Amino acid sequence: MKGARIIVQKYGGTSVADTERIKNVARRIAESRERGDHVVVVISALGDTTDRLIKLAHSISERPREREMDMLLATGEQVSVALLSMAMHELGYEAISFTGAQVGIVTDSSHTKAKILDVKVGRILEELDKGSVVIVAGFQGVSLDDQITTLGRGGSDTTAVALAAALGAGVCEIYTDVDGVYTADPRLVPEARKLPRVTYEEMLEMAATGARVLQLRSVEFARNYGVVIHVRSSFSGEEGTWIVGDEERMEKAIISGVTHDVSEAKVTIFDVPDRPGVAAGLFQALAAENINVDMIIQNVSEDQKTAISFTVSKEDLRKAEEITRKMAEKLQAGGVSVDQSIAKVSLVGAGMRTHPGVAADMFAALAESGINIEMISTSTIKISCVIRAEDAKKAVRAIHKKFGLERGVVMRA
Ligand code: ADP
Ligand code: ASP
Ligand code: MG
Repeated sequence: MKGARIIVQKYGGTSVADTERIKNVARRIAESRERGDHVVVVISALGDTTDRLIKLAHSISERPREREMDMLLATGEQVSVALLSMAMHELGYEAISFTGAQVGIVTDSSHTKAKILDVKVGRILEELDKGSVVIVAGFQGVSLDDQITTLGRGGSDTTAVALAAALGAGVCEIYTDVDGVYTADPRLVPEARKLPRVTYEEMLEMAATGARVLQLRSVEFARNYGVVIHVRSSFSGEEGTWIVGDEERMEKAIISGVTHDVSEAKVTIFDVPDRPGVAAGLFQALAAENINVDMIIQNVSEDQKTAISFTVSKEDLRKAEEITRKMAEKLQAGGVSVDQSIAKVSLVGAGMRTHPGVAADMFAALAESGINIEMISTSTIKISCVIRAEDAKKAVRAIHKKFGLERGVVMRA
């Protein structure tokens, strides 16, 4: 394509919340065009449109079918691409908007959390060649059997990275309402520090444990295809955070950040027989319904009976509870309980591998704040604790402080 570089830019919901902001985004895109780049834009629905559509659905049906939810939610992004394209025309630029299905973002059929299988770029390349800015609706695709699908909350990030991978784009810029990835959610911890660079590996753990700024799937895509992501503000020109491979990370901090997540709930099945096959049966049944289980603990057995607790996304809670109750009946277990008032706080950092004592310091920070730990899970570069939801803010601040993250301390506390 005549030598020009392709860049993919994604603008989130807050960045296109009203017409003034849409015009502002159009001006930014125009600046990139003026620099000579070919620009593919991915945008989210305006402001809190997706939340409003979900509420609307629930005012009609307690359990709307997932296929219809996708039909409904995909409309949000269709509105914003058309408006942004009009704004580009007003500025005198050629632009054309597309839905996910139109450009060929092919997904599997798991409605409301579909996975991208293939991205066809022919149509986009044709339009770029004509000099147009291509504006693609984020968060949506089309399944092999021609159904409209959506990619899960925050899915526009994944649309953008998948397009960047398929187009071999130089960079995927994620424009949002903060100016980068911070050591903790800056809305919760005002003294949090912007990280200049984060490795894919660290960002994966941060996204998986609640740092909403990038959808987990988008980081997986970026790592698998080597897409460089630049997370930055749509309201300022400042450099943001680069998400890169390990070899490109210069300074090695032990800890990258503290995250929190209040989107999960805990399900417990108690007094189940402690024998082989019980856990396998339960988790197979959950997996068969496409439910992702996050943390799991099994208690010490007493009188050949035990309790198993696990966490799932609140969105999947109803289904998970139903399955677990059926299993409890089959196993003649004591019962099932559900707890929606939990939070997960996590500490992420590649340096944990080689620095013993990080977990101990994290637990100490929680203890000093009088916060009880209910579940713990670890990976080589992450420690997560489940606590009461009302303690989340206090916990994140206490851990952030314990490790001196506001000062960019490289050694552990
Ligand atoms: P968008 O609508 O642009 O996709 P999101 O709301 O999905 O934006 O993600 C941006 C938000 O992520 C920020 O407003 C911030 O509150 C939150 N966030 C959580 N953790 C972090 C973090 N570690 N660094 C930056 N932002 C974070
Ligand atoms: N509009 C969708 C959501 O709110 C997708 C996105 O914004 O990335 O989750
Ligand atoms: Mg988002």
